[in-house]
Amino acid sequence: MPTFAPMRPRDLLCPKPGGLYCAPGDFYIDPVRPVPRALITHGHSDHARAGHGSVLATRQTLDIMGLRYGEDFAGSTQEAVLGETVHINGVAVTFHPAGHVLGSAQICVEHDGMRIVASGDYKRQPDATCLPFEPIRCDVFITEATFGLPVFRHPADTHEIAKLIKSTEQFPERAHLVGAYALGKAQRVIRLIRDSGYAKPIYIHGAMATLCEYYQAQGIDLGDLRPATVEGGSKQDFAGAIVVGPSSAFADRWARRFPDPISSFASGWMRIRQRAKQGGVELPLIISDHADWDELLETIVETGAGEIWVTHGREEALVRWCELQGISAKALHLVGYEDEAD
Ligand SMILES: [Zn+2]
Repeated sequence: MPTFAPMRPRDLLCPKPGGLYCAPGDFYIDPVRPVPRALITHGHSDHARAGHGSVLATRQTLDIMGLRYGEDFAGSTQEAVLGETVHINGVAVTFHPAGHVLGSAQICVEHDGMRIVASGDYKRQPDATCLPFEPIRCDVFITEATFGLPVFRHPADTHEIAKLIKSTEQFPERAHLVGAYALGKAQRVIRLIRDSGYAKPIYIHGAMATLCEYYQAQGIDLGDLRPATVEGGSKQDFAGAIVVGPSSAFADRWARRFPDPISSFASGWMRIRQRAKQGGVELPLIISDHADWDELLETIVETGAGEIWVTHGREEALVRWCELQGISAKALHLVGYEDEAD
């Protein structure tokens, strides 16, 4: 007589050196090394790498990977339509919005009555540049914990942008250099500046041009964007201007072309005053594309999951909080994901 043991979560998804692996479906989620079949949550480079045999991801994530790595970034690609289930070797897979950056998705994997949701990176704050996070009921919820400490509570992004706008009014002769990650954060910051009523041109570093153009083509209005170059102009053209670029660029010669610049940086890490100080950031903007402590807890409760797996970040406090709520939890200790990029 055959015995039917109920499926355990780790039979459906388990951490391997290459990333989260689904044995019955024979695929990886956000693998950190090349694999035959990859499902990708979003376009940030620590989650979306080139060189896989096949990639299943949302149209926008596939487009973003193409822009970053070239069209031949994978052997083959398949578009995952949000909310539509596809079957991979008998495993049901559905992508749902994650609210992190344009195209970002959680991946729901279901087999033999067991449902696991891998959230990838996510946030719950409103963001006009991507679809909002959708809580999905599941048995196991896999969460990041980039800001998994009670000290991390992100203020309203509109409040942070108001500080920037106020500074441009106070110092009309100085350029405002805003450091922001090229995918997601830069476009969100620009959109927030526009929503505050700022209609003047915004200058962008060349490293951001392609992605900003892509966002605009996807219907996200970023207004009048111009290259932050001085050829044929003078330093004074940038007096009082807002310039958005990767924070790394602000440390080099590129930044010296601007008049008496004020250094700003948009990141959840700006909550830590010491970090801002060390980085020489005069005008820290606490704007994050990751869930803060309250958003992590709220989301865990909303999924109704009886078990939580924490992928990367500050796992201990979150695991402890879950245990106090009677939710079993463990840290997966996946390597290869950074949290600096936020
Ligand atoms: Zn990310």
